[in-house]
Parts: sequence; structure tokens; C-alpha cells
Amino acid sequence: MRFEEAMAVVQRHAQAWPHEPLVEVVELASAGGRVLAREVLADRDQPPFNRATRDGYAVRAADADGAAVRPLRVVGSLRAGETWRGSPLGEGEAIEIMTGAALPNGADAVVMVEHTFVDDGWLRLTRALSVGENVVPRAAEAVAGAVVLPRGWVVKAAEIGVAASCGRSQLEVFAKPRVVVVSTGDELVELDEPVRDGQIRNSNGYALVALVETAGGSAERLATARDCVEELQARVVEGREADLLLLSGGVSMGKYDLVEKVLEEFGAEFFFTGALIQPGRPVVFGRLPKRDGVNPEGWTYFFGLPGNPVSVQVCFHLFVAPMLRALCGRVQVAPQFVEARLAEAVKGGARVTRFLPARVDGAWDGVRVRVVGWQGSGDVVANARGNGYAVLPAEVEAFAAGETVRVLLR
Ligand code: AMP
Ligand code: MG
Repeated sequence: MRFEEAMAVVQRHAQAWPHEPLVEVVELASAGGRVLAREVLADRDQPPFNRATRDGYAVRAADADGAAVRPLRVVGSLRAGETWRGSPLGEGEAIEIMTGAALPNGADAVVMVEHTFVDDGWLRLTRALSVGENVVPRAAEAVAGAVVLPRGWVVKAAEIGVAASCGRSQLEVFAKPRVVVVSTGDELVELDEPVRDGQIRNSNGYALVALVETAGGSAERLATARDCVEELQARVVEGREADLLLLSGGVSMGKYDLVEKVLEEFGAEFFFTGALIQPGRPVVFGRLPKRDGVNPEGWTYFFGLPGNPVSVQVCFHLFVAPMLRALCGRVQVAPQFVEARLAEAVKGGARVTRFLPARVDGAWDGVRVRVVGWQGSGDVVANARGNGYAVLPAEVEAFAAGETVRVLLR
């Protein structure tokens, strides 16, 4: 399947997912990265009063509109946190005011202190002023009761600031989806085991847990499955009770690539088996009934990821992350791309769309991307030198330095 089509398939399932995970209440300070299960409303107008945005003098703009700039009498002073208790500002009057204070009645503008001087007890303005200058009117940012943070939104620093401004010390967020990670392969050993010649360490298991947790899921890593039907079956029996099952390895054409066959036995429905990308071509996506036969409790989505570590990462960002974000209750799920200019020429001519480990830097004078040298899709080290993947379309012979390409962000 063309990779745009494969992305669209994931997008369709992600959008069709009924956004009804369980809800938890968390303290505001620890809500970072969680997804809002309920919108946050403004508890009062924001700002709650006509707010001065500069230190200076509250005035009537009509007293200072160009030709008629005349000396004003200063009748009081207002600090932030205070409200004016005196009579409304009259013609020819000014009140000293600090940033963040409420504009007194009768005033409709603030003249910055830098644009004034005091002459013989009178306040003089050095420039004309119009109505509303240096004032944010009450409720201009949000009217009491308005939605300031929508449901399905990820809580980050900006959102925490908004919630705090509305007096929310706790937030309702969606429970994290449970994601089971299964590594498969006879050659894999755990980190605390000795490695013999021909064996490799199970790096994908750890990388996948980190990818899942970063994307907002709760990951559980099962014991590695050997390339044999029984062990794979046992993992699938456990994994199909989760919200999402991620398997790495065993989906290629080799004699011991048994993952698809085992999933099929459990009644898997496959949405795609293979996408025209490199690395990651054998990737599979589908869903399993949670228990044998019928489907009493809904589905467990699964991805079978090709075992090469770079394939795992590319497929995760391209396909798994969007589905996982939907399971988290997020409304925005699509993979993120930016456009960048190639720092150096890159060879093309591939039959499939390539995703090369690359480092993108958002410099002031334009976003540039440099493909890192790599030894192919098993090169975990090169993968870590990048911070994204340069997307090189199929059938293009060469990409010149300075040419614009897309970059898949991670
Ligand atoms: P496979 O998809 O099972 O054919 O594996 C492709 C390549 O990825 C092989 O070189 C495997 O040794 C390697 N590989 C598979 N699983 C992992 C893993 N969990 N960690 C690191 N490398 C792996
Ligand atoms: Mg394998």
C-alpha cells in the first residue's frame, strides 16, 4: 500500500475511535502531558476588569486627542490589586496607575509614563492618545463561562497557566491507554544477560516503552517471544486484553517470521500488511477481537513493526503514534511534518518513499535538515544522532542541496 494511503487508513481508525476512555482527576501540577477529559471554562471574565497594560496615567482620551493636549490634574494613584474608590475621573483629570491595575471609572486610556512630564504640578502629555490605548477591556480574552481549553487537548505549560488563571487546582483527564509491547526474535537477549556471538540486545523493547510513554500511553513490556508459534500465541493472549498491542520483529518474509500467521489464528482483521516505505516496509496494522470468537468487549488494535530499530521508530511516528494519540482521547492525532531545506545533496532513485534519520534545525534564517550518515535500518546509533526523518519521495533521481523536503518530526 502507498504510504499516504496507509497513513489515511490509520487516520480513519483514529478518528472513528469513540473518545470515551475512563476519566481521572489529577492535581494541576502533575497534569502535564495528560489529555483533558472535560473542557476548562473561564470562571470569570478575563481580564476581570479593564486592565492597564502600562505604568502611567489613566486619562480620558478626549483630553488628549491631538490638538487638544492640555495639562491634567493628577487626583490620585492606583497600584495593581487596587480598585479606585473615588469619584469617576472628570474632565482634565488623571490618576497615576500601575500595570495590572483596574482602570478607574471615567478613564478610557492609559498614557505611558514615558510620554509624560510634570510641569509646575501639572501633568503634561508629549503625545496624543486614543480611546482604549494601553488598556485590555474586561472579558476581551474570555467571557465568564466560555471554553478556554477544549476537551481532547494535551495539557502543557500554556494550558497549565490557563487552568491556574481560572482557579483550577485539579483537572479531569483521560486514563492512559494500556499498551503492551512484545519483542520477538530468537537472537534477542535482555540487558542483564550475557550476550553470545550472533546475539543482540533487545533494544526495541525499551525504545518502544519510551516512545509509548512519551506519546501519553502506559506501557507494559512482556517477556520476549522466541520465533515459535507457542510463545507468540501466549503473548497475544495477554496482549489482546490491552488497548493497543505492539509487536516488533517477525513480520517480514523470513521462514521464522510468524507474527502475522499467529495474529490471524486469533481472528485478526488486517487493515494493511506492508507500506511502500523504507525503512519499515513490512509494517502491519489491524485489530483483534479481545476474546475468542465473538467480540464482546471491543477490539485491541495492533501494529506488527519490522524488527530493525530504525524501522520501529519510523513506523511508530508515522502510524502508531496517531492511533495511540486517539486512544489517549486526543483530538489532534496526525503525524507532524515540517518543510526544510537540505543542507547537503542526497542521492535518490528509490522505488519507495524513504525516511532517513536526519537532524533538523530551526535556525533564524530558515529551517535546514541534514541527513545523518547511517548503515541502514539497523543503525540505532545513527538514529539517535537525528531528531527526525527526512522524507524522500520515490522515483526522484537526486535531491540537491538547498532543495526543500518534508521532515517527519519525532
Ligand atoms: P525481523 O523483523 O524479525 O526480521 O528483524 C529485523 C532485524 O531487526 C534483525 O536484524 C533483528 O535482529 C533486529 N531486531 C529484531 N528485534 C529487535 C529488537 N527487539 N531489538 C533490536 N533489534 C531487533
Ligand atoms: Mg526476527
